[in-house]
Amino acid sequence: MLGDKLSNYHFGEDHPFGPKRYWAFKEEFELRSLNKKVLLSAPQQATEKQLALFHTQEYINKAKALSDKGEGYLDCGDTPAIKGIYESACTVVGTTLKAVDLIMKGDCHFAFSPIAGLHHATRNSAAGFCVFNDCGIAIEYLRKEYKIQRIAYVDIDAHHGDGVFYSFENDTDLCFVDFHQDGATLYPGTGFINETGKDNAVGTKLNIPLPPNSTDKIAKALWQSAEEFIEKFKPEFILLQCGADSLAGDPITQLNLTSTFHSYVASRLSLLSNKYSNGRLLVMGGGGYNLDNIKAAWNDVIEQLI
Ligand SMILES: [Zn+2]
Repeated sequence: MLGDKLSNYHFGEDHPFGPKRYWAFKEEFELRSLNKKVLLSAPQQATEKQLALFHTQEYINKAKALSDKGEGYLDCGDTPAIKGIYESACTVVGTTLKAVDLIMKGDCHFAFSPIAGLHHATRNSAAGFCVFNDCGIAIEYLRKEYKIQRIAYVDIDAHHGDGVFYSFENDTDLCFVDFHQDGATLYPGTGFINETGKDNAVGTKLNIPLPPNSTDKIAKALWQSAEEFIEKFKPEFILLQCGADSLAGDPITQLNLTSTFHSYVASRLSLLSNKYSNGRLLVMGGGGYNLDNIKAAWNDVIEQLI
């Protein structure tokens, strides 16, 4: 998914989640000539009805009103209500849903959207630079539009995907696997090993907190159990949030992974998706606040999947 409208989703030139993230990705994507090797598809706006598959109407109304005014925060103080952020957040969501459509209609096996994977937003609030949770909306959309029930969500962003985790905590058909920096040392402070799901869904969620400074070697060793976990679940569709902020050198996190881990996870999930999900794999860029890491992680993942 590529189109400059995606760069509009940001919180200011000098904010960590600035517009340069998109441009950095695109520059490297074109430098490697990947634009000539994949089907390019333009961004699309989500409708309010699509937002409401996951979010409460009350929150959608609030986000729209604050965005029109262009002042205040959409949460407790992390996610500023920049003027027009509602529309640009709808671009993020619409583009993720278009990627789902392309995969489900058989136009491609895997799809990648760079400005996507806004995993912190909850059903009734923004959180951590995430206005609308395109991951959660995609899950609900797959179920409603395509009757795809058993879905695996894998997240290797440095931050725990709390907005997805707690929204589907008691959902037996959502397999959740999340590698992240230990919540005792990083926002949002969740995703502990004993959080395995609620009620009947106990055992469908796998949180893997990594101590600060963890390397590829440590993460790869833990991947085996994640793969077995997903394999047992036999998902009909796989989502990957491959945040680049888990790479060494990110300014706001403390993990020491390299893009080799991101490529490795992409290749393993590609195998699993071929085995169980008809090859259906949707990859979302996620976080990442060091531009060189964004260039490496996201483009290595795409290259690996090609
Ligand atoms: Zn992150």
